[in-house]
Amino acid sequence: MQIVTDPAAMQQLAFTWRDQGGRIVLVPTMGYFHEGHLSLMAYGRGQGDHLVVSIFVNPTQFGPQEDLDRYPRDLERDCDLAAKQGVDVIFAPNAEQMYPPGYQTFVEVTEVTRGLCGASRPIHFRGVATVVLKLFNLVQPHVAVFGEKDYQQLIAMQRMVADLNVPVTVIGRPLVREADGLALSSRNVYLNPEERRTALKLSQALFLARDMAAQGERSRERLFAAITPLLDAEPLLRLDYLSLVDNHTLAELPTIQHTARLAIAAYVGQIRLIDNILLEVP
Ligand code: AMP
Repeated sequence: MQIVTDPAAMQQLAFTWRDQGGRIVLVPTMGYFHEGHLSLMAYGRGQGDHLVVSIFVNPTQFGPQEDLDRYPRDLERDCDLAAKQGVDVIFAPNAEQMYPPGYQTFVEVTEVTRGLCGASRPIHFRGVATVVLKLFNLVQPHVAVFGEKDYQQLIAMQRMVADLNVPVTVIGRPLVREADGLALSSRNVYLNPEERRTALKLSQALFLARDMAAQGERSRERLFAAITPLLDAEPLLRLDYLSLVDNHTLAELPTIQHTARLAIAAYVGQIRLIDNILLEVP
C-alpha cells in the first residue's frame, strides 16, 4: 500500500491509472478507523481496480466552536487497518496543501443541507461539498463510497454530483453499529463509561420508532411522543434535533406513507453524536 500526501502526485497517479483503463474507487474519510470505515473499504475493494482511501480532517467543515483540534488522529494505525482491507493508496494531504494561501472557492448544496445537521452546523456541508469535489478532482474516481451514518451528507453528495454533472457514482452503504446498538463513530472514544451508557439511548429511541412503524404507526406525533421521554430522562443528554424526513428530499414529514428516515443528533456531555434509521410501515 502506498501513502501519498502530495495532491499533485495523487492526481498524476490517478491520470496514469485512467490512461491504463483502470477503474478507481474512493472512500473519503477523516481517519481514526473503526468497523464502519472498514466496511466501506471492503465494499469499495470489490468495485474497481484501484482503491483509494483519503484521510483528511477537513478544517472548512468545522465551525469555530467545534472539535477540529481535538478530532482523534492515528495515521499509523489507520494505515495498518487499511492495508488489511486491500487498500492501494492512502491519500493523506495536509490542510495547507488542500487550502493554500489565496484559496477562495466553495461548493454549496442549498436545499438538502438546510435542516438536520445543517441547521446547527451552518458552514458544515459547504466544507464537505468543497473538499469532496476537490478529492474527486484529485483521485478521479469512477465510484465513491459513503456511509449512511452521515445520511444527510450522502444525500448532499448525490445531489452535488447530479447538479454539477460530476462523473462519479456516489454509493451509500449501511450504518455499522456496536453489538449493543451504538452507531460506530470516531468520536465514541471520547465517551466516559457513564456517557457511553447515555449514548445508547439514541439508538434505543430509533429502534423503538422502527418497531412502532413496523407495527403500523405512521404518525410523527405519536412516534415522537413515545420516544422523547426516553431521551428527556437522561440528564447527560441534550437533544439537538429529532427529525422524521423523506428518504430522498429530507423534507420533514407529518406522517409516513411507506418509508421515512428518522434522524437524531444529541450532545452527550461535550460530544455531539448522530444516528439515523429507516422506518418502514408495511
Ligand atoms: P468520517 O471519517 O467519520 O468522516 O466518515 C467517513 C465515512 O465513513 C463517511 O462516509 C461516513 O458516513 C462513514 N461512516 C462513519 N461511521 C460509520 C458507521 N458507523 N457505519 C457506516 N459508515 C460509517
